[in-house]
Amino acid sequence: MSELGLYLHMPFCRQKCLYCDFSSYSGAEHLFVAYTAALCQQIAEQGGLLCKPTVDTVYVGGGTPSLLPVQLLEQVMSCLYTNFNIKNDAEISMEANPGTVTREQLVTLKAAGINRLSFGVQSFNNDLLARLGRIHKTADTLTALEYAYATGFNNISIDMMYGLPGQTVEGFARELEQAVAVNTSHISVYGLKLEEGTPFAAAYDRGSLKLPDEATEEAMYDRMVDFLPGRGLLRYEISNFARPGLECRHNMKYWQYQPYLGIGAAAHSFLNGERISNVTGIQEYISAIFEGRSPVVMREILTKDQSMAEYIFLALRTSQGLTLANFYQRFCVDFFRHFGNIFEKLQRQDLVETDSRRVWLTDRGMKFGNIVFSSFLPD
Ligand code: SF4
Repeated sequence: MSELGLYLHMPFCRQKCLYCDFSSYSGAEHLFVAYTAALCQQIAEQGGLLCKPTVDTVYVGGGTPSLLPVQLLEQVMSCLYTNFNIKNDAEISMEANPGTVTREQLVTLKAAGINRLSFGVQSFNNDLLARLGRIHKTADTLTALEYAYATGFNNISIDMMYGLPGQTVEGFARELEQAVAVNTSHISVYGLKLEEGTPFAAAYDRGSLKLPDEATEEAMYDRMVDFLPGRGLLRYEISNFARPGLECRHNMKYWQYQPYLGIGAAAHSFLNGERISNVTGIQEYISAIFEGRSPVVMREILTKDQSMAEYIFLALRTSQGLTLANFYQRFCVDFFRHFGNIFEKLQRQDLVETDSRRVWLTDRGMKFGNIVFSSFLPD
């Protein structure tokens, strides 16, 4: 097995953002201690079952991990080091909300082993932040980044969003300028999606939420892909830009179809070709762990056709694309013999390209990735 990636889910948020359908809950602070104990118990169990495997990436995501008291986060990190063989040069990321970060907390987290921070900035416009239901303002972002740099973090990512209600192309361009000016090593930029069951989706259905039209959103996308690489942030995945060498190694595991273990409520794993999901509710997760029941609610062994399709569309998300020799080695299938017709059709639409070694998405393919991905799905 390749070295393992570990994902730990922290399903707590101070308040739910209006567009968010992630598995996270507000008003659940009373469960911090019990959840941490359950998490540590699952870490110990999984570390034992897998014989203390070597781990080269850890990602503490959420939710808002930075909402947890720092002593509890320290406890989780210490459990990890006891039960897994964490490599000395492992990338250990934690997501943080600019509205919940303190300097003391960052000092402690750095000492506990966290070496990469990912801030959910989303926007540098206070009006847009308020419309999204975010708890922070731009001043909080600048302060959080100042603390992070002062603490010695030099691998910092920020998340940004476009296609927001009231956002203009010129406004977004100014936000990109601000994003680059804060000098982080990595930026992820996502278009707003209306997720079922969120207040945004309901408001949109009622007609009380107006979003930029398709052409405006496309113009924002074009600005992003034109602007960031010129400022040293190279695109290495559809939505991700990094300074060379500072790509997120943990996320690369997902796109390169490598194994990862998810621990915590709503966490997913991919181990030995099997996809595994844990129960989403916090209390359900805690009860399962303390009552000695498995928190797993879904296991799926993928068929070869499903695995090949997943492998292809995950690899094609990256700028590097799909390496033909790796595909053959993994599936014992010649890519062009099996998918030649699909490839040629997509190539005629200027969505994919190849040399003798790789297949990758063109610029147009990056923009309309969904057309490509759905073409490879088994019937
Ligand atoms: S902070 Fe993140 S996880 Fe929490 S509600 Fe907002 S978008 Fe969702």
